[in-house]
Amino acid sequence: MKYSPIQNYINGQFIDAATDQTLAVISPVDGTQLSTVPLSTAQDLDAAVKAAKAAFPAWSRTTIKERVQVFFRYKALLEKNINELAALVQEENGKTYDEAVAEIEKGAELAEFACSLPQIVTGEILEVSRGVECRTEHVPLGVVASIVPFNFPSMVPNWTIPNAIALGNCMIIKPSEKVPLSVGRLAELLQEAGLPKGVFNVVHGDREIVEAICDHPGIEAVSFVGSTKIAKAVYKRATSNYKRCLALGGAKNHLIVLPDAIPGMTAQNITASMAGCAGQRCMAASAMVAVGPVDHIIEKLCEEAQKMVPGKNLGAVINRASKDRIERYITEAESQGAKVLVDGRNPTVEGKEEGTYVGPTVIDYVRPDMAIAQEEIFGPVISIMRTNTVDEALAIENANPYGNAASVFTQNGGMARYVIDKASAGMVGVNVGVPVPREPFSFGGWNDSRFGVGDITGKSSIEFWTKLKKSTTKWNPEAGINWMS
Ligand code: NAD
Repeated sequence: MKYSPIQNYINGQFIDAATDQTLAVISPVDGTQLSTVPLSTAQDLDAAVKAAKAAFPAWSRTTIKERVQVFFRYKALLEKNINELAALVQEENGKTYDEAVAEIEKGAELAEFACSLPQIVTGEILEVSRGVECRTEHVPLGVVASIVPFNFPSMVPNWTIPNAIALGNCMIIKPSEKVPLSVGRLAELLQEAGLPKGVFNVVHGDREIVEAICDHPGIEAVSFVGSTKIAKAVYKRATSNYKRCLALGGAKNHLIVLPDAIPGMTAQNITASMAGCAGQRCMAASAMVAVGPVDHIIEKLCEEAQKMVPGKNLGAVINRASKDRIERYITEAESQGAKVLVDGRNPTVEGKEEGTYVGPTVIDYVRPDMAIAQEEIFGPVISIMRTNTVDEALAIENANPYGNAASVFTQNGGMARYVIDKASAGMVGVNVGVPVPREPFSFGGWNDSRFGVGDITGKSSIEFWTKLKKSTTKWNPEAGINWMS
């Protein structure tokens, strides 16, 4: 085992969980056991809530201008330690080193946004009648929780940590049990950046701890990122306990390709979208809807896809179960009549035989009724469906229950605008394969990709992590005249 057993981080200290139940943490890169992660209990969570509660009065009374100083230092520490942080992400998640570096850079950008919060979180004030003022201010909620998935061990935690904490809350985070190492390093960096003890706490585990978070009366708000099935369960349970909840779910992102799209650029973008991070992104292209004669673009797409080499510029998928599931989808589609143009099943990766790799896969003549066209695959696979019109393509996009992202590739501005209007997705791209809005714009899908109101990052997150205090004050504006009498 490469690292010592993972511990929880509560009240500024790494401590053992009150359980001897653990899971092995296996690197998808080559099958090495990295560590073990404890399956913490409600007792561990309670200790974290107590620590966070105790830290809240002092932290929330600190001004936001002082609180963000921690995040200026945290951003600098992410940048200073980027190589080591990226190596850890690569090791536990399986993505390539360059992708891991990009993930840490994005975390630094998220911290940068939090540093700008004092400039944008100002309230409003108006003299509504002579001497009477109404004023609003954003007030922190208290103890909040963040539950995160495996695919971005560092970035998705950073979607929530800087904003929630800079806005005055104390946080408990539950990392994915598949990639529990990175968040421990973030805890160390936050401590080094000067965050007071108890403001940030880490409790490891799986279902039991997530349910305990949803049930704990001391937690005011729950943010969740993961699959739709669990997002629904968490949203239902947290809100039935009268908590505020924002739960982001899975995705099935469609790229609509028109015949006038620029072939090389389109093929490169689609490849980067479907195979980047081994397709394990909620923004990954999963379905390409080809409108009319686009064979020349599909040819280029196959060429580009073949440049993705497992174990080199294409990382591993998270585990054996995931690899088997992805390959089953491909085999099933093939048996139902789809044509596998580029086949990534069972690639050989020399020296990493125990790693869990799937090669780039392009499948043509997929029908909308096939499972591969309807379900989230979360692997480096693109399914091509053929249509004759943009409206048919949009009908396919709109029929899928998810709504994270959609893109269109065309040189026709009017057509692009039409797709932006009609696509039922929270984030739409034009000639962009991964239409992630960058800070200060907020990130969030629609439909079965998001339960709750608002987005998870950017300005929208201010509403989630705070409540609005409205005060009305009345003072005699002429009082000064009689001050001395
Ligand atoms: P997941 O739903 O399996 O796990 C997410 C979190 O829920 C983890 O912390 C896990 O421990 C916990 N969990 C797992 N099973 C649970 C259960 N039965 N009850 C309660 N909690 C449970 O997701 P994952 O496999 O870690 O991540 C991949 C998924 O996340 C994909 O569907 C992907 O699209 C989605 N995702 C979405 C976004 C977005 O912004 N919409 C971003 C990243 C990932």
